Amino acid sequence: MSDRALTTINELLAEHLIAPENAPTLTKVADRYAIALTPTIADLIDRRDPLDPIAAQFLPKAAELLQLPEESGDPIGDHVHSPVEGIVHRYPDRVLLKAVHVCPVYCRFCFRREMVGPDGDGTLSADKLKAALAYIREHDDIWEVILTGGDPLVLSPRRLTAIMEGLAAIPHVRIIRFHTRVPAVDPARIDVALIAALKASGKTTYVALHANHPREMTADARAACARLIDAGIAMVSQTVLLRGVNDDATILADLMRAFVETRIKPYYLHHPDLAPGTSHFRLSIAEGQAIVAALRGRISGLCQPSYVLDIPGGHGKALVHPNDITAEKSGDIIVTDFRGMPHRYP
Ligand code: SF4
Repeated sequence: MSDRALTTINELLAEHLIAPENAPTLTKVADRYAIALTPTIADLIDRRDPLDPIAAQFLPKAAELLQLPEESGDPIGDHVHSPVEGIVHRYPDRVLLKAVHVCPVYCRFCFRREMVGPDGDGTLSADKLKAALAYIREHDDIWEVILTGGDPLVLSPRRLTAIMEGLAAIPHVRIIRFHTRVPAVDPARIDVALIAALKASGKTTYVALHANHPREMTADARAACARLIDAGIAMVSQTVLLRGVNDDATILADLMRAFVETRIKPYYLHHPDLAPGTSHFRLSIAEGQAIVAALRGRISGLCQPSYVLDIPGGHGKALVHPNDITAEKSGDIIVTDFRGMPHRYP
């Protein structure tokens, strides 16, 4: 097994992760969308299972060449809310800071797949980072800064420290949140130096772990998260609801329990975005609601994520949970319990 990330079709062939007869088509996919699997992820793939949920997330597929008219390179509308490079200011009290455009792995369903990758814009230059920090400083309604990208935890501790020092000097920024897959896909990277770089005097740091299948929550991944949490960093989770990966209440229940056992509060369950070449991953909102309804009652309230949709065009998130309440003409309300049984509430 390779001790570095697999990033080319030839490397996937050499590791027997794709079949030789598929290589010409997958080369076309690789020409358009970046590929990367860390050794941890390549090890997790069950090569005997053609439907392996880890493989489905990271190995390229011919279906990615199919782009539907409703799909977009900017499905959640980052560009329309970007006042300066590296900043997305969609909601009044928080901004995204996209400091880097590379990831340790490239998810085949990525909502920013046209923006991330080794051929993308790379890391924000010192001048652009300065301009992004100046924007945050000038807007005193910004309470939270969310570092996303790309995966900010691919940055060196030195670069992370420089960003955190910049944010630490802005009094109205209280919360700094990192969106990352690193604790699960490259757990050894979560070491003393990186953890120290995520903390800033007077600020609260959150790490939001992106993981979609319980098998990603290995012992090493859980230990990496424990190192972050023991250092005083709070953790929440993000999961994308994906056909062929986790479109099953039992799998999602196991994943949410794994988060909670690791002291990670389940936060978002994202309906998949209209990213190009990802229709094979998408299910309908009605299918998603049925799965979320099945989670209720099955797992503790602590384990329940918020099921959300990013409205295309940059209009932000909407809760798309199944509705437990319907109103009657009489004015009474019908409440549905976790078994699906209706009850009248005056
Ligand atoms: S880690 Fe996030 S930004 Fe990177 S490829 Fe996966 S979904 Fe996209």
